[in-house]
Amino acid sequence: MKFFKPDFELHHFSDITKEWLEKNNVQTIFSDLDSTLATHDQPGDDELIDWIQMLKNNGVQLVIASNNSQGRVDRFCEPHGIIGFGKCKKPSASEVRKHMNTLGAKDDTTLFLGDQLFTDIWCGKNVGIRTVLVNPIGQEHEPIQIVFKRKIENWIKKRW
Ligand SMILES: [Mg+2]
Repeated sequence: MKFFKPDFELHHFSDITKEWLEKNNVQTIFSDLDSTLATHDQPGDDELIDWIQMLKNNGVQLVIASNNSQGRVDRFCEPHGIIGFGKCKKPSASEVRKHMNTLGAKDDTTLFLGDQLFTDIWCGKNVGIRTVLVNPIGQEHEPIQIVFKRKIENWIKKRW
């Protein structure tokens, strides 16, 4: 079950600080949206606004990579002035790899951040970049198929 083990396990996106980014030599973060940065289908909160500003201040690019619709991604990204891609087909590497190439993001300075093993962490591993798993935000608002996947994820996490 070690296959799904992320490089880093943090509680929340805000655990990624200026110091953490410098220590780990991170210049680009590809991030899942729903339950990673905000509650499912909801906008971000003030903590997210502060965190995005911190990334900008430190020259770290945040790119949203979601399996949700492009409409959801656009509504989320616009107020924050960030870019994002919907329908990313995670865990397939193809979309994220394509966008990394377009943006000139390097493998050794890019992270994949997400809350799900079978989409986000697996995708990052398929791309060949470091992965960060966070606890899901607003879990009580998640669709039933994700609730089911959480049970399998928890089984795997107990075994790595
Ligand atoms: Mg998610």
